[in-house]
Amino acid sequence: MNNVLQLSGLTKGYNHGKPNEVSVLQGADLSAARGEVVALVAPSGAGKSTLLHIAGLLDLPDAGSVQINGTDMTRLSDRKRTAARRNDIGFIYQFHHLLPEFSALENIVLPQLANGVDPGAAETYARDLLGRVGVETRADHRPAALSGGEQQRVAFCRALANRPSLLLADEPTGNLDPSTSDRVFGTLMDLVRDTGLTAVIATHNLDLAARMDRTLRLVDGQLT
Ligand code: ADP
Repeated sequence: MNNVLQLSGLTKGYNHGKPNEVSVLQGADLSAARGEVVALVAPSGAGKSTLLHIAGLLDLPDAGSVQINGTDMTRLSDRKRTAARRNDIGFIYQFHHLLPEFSALENIVLPQLANGVDPGAAETYARDLLGRVGVETRADHRPAALSGGEQQRVAFCRALANRPSLLLADEPTGNLDPSTSDRVFGTLMDLVRDTGLTAVIATHNLDLAARMDRTLRLVDGQLT
């Protein structure tokens, strides 16, 4: 089997044993093959963030397994899980979360340096990524000097800086006006296709979901 991501039988709840106990995931399964782009559509409160956090190794499920490239991540030590998160997974959020005191370029170089990449090679790759998303002329600007669409494009590059095999995105263009969102989403899809990434992209926008390979809906704690 060649799945980059395989979630099997995930259950997750909060406030166990208390009056305000909630059961969010109730046997959620998801598999994404190499190069596949899966849309995750869910109404607010359905558990989309909970699912993405578990898939991204930021939280553990109550039961079930999270396999990335064939390894069950729920069985690893915290240290190994953290290493896997840094090496295998890229994240994009609704808000860019770029470091405000660093330039666009530095925001893409720094994660590579933290991973031991040579500074020259890190800069070359960062400029290559910025060129792919069409913001190479903005490399030396700080995030505050960029438009919302440009900030998100830089955030896409940062997510890819350490050449992950899996990209997880939570409403990656949800913060932009509709026409900018449409264009920036197109850039993201080109980048994902060019790099052969596997991606799970949460969105409320059914037009954007239709541009992905497959749509999964999170209903009653399960994916259908
Ligand atoms: P979505 O991202 O689809 O809006 P979430 O995964 O954020 O949904 O939340 C799903 C449900 O779990 C909501 O009812 C939310 O209130 C609850 N929830 C999420 N995180 C916690 C937490 N840390 N403690 C208690 N309840 C939580």
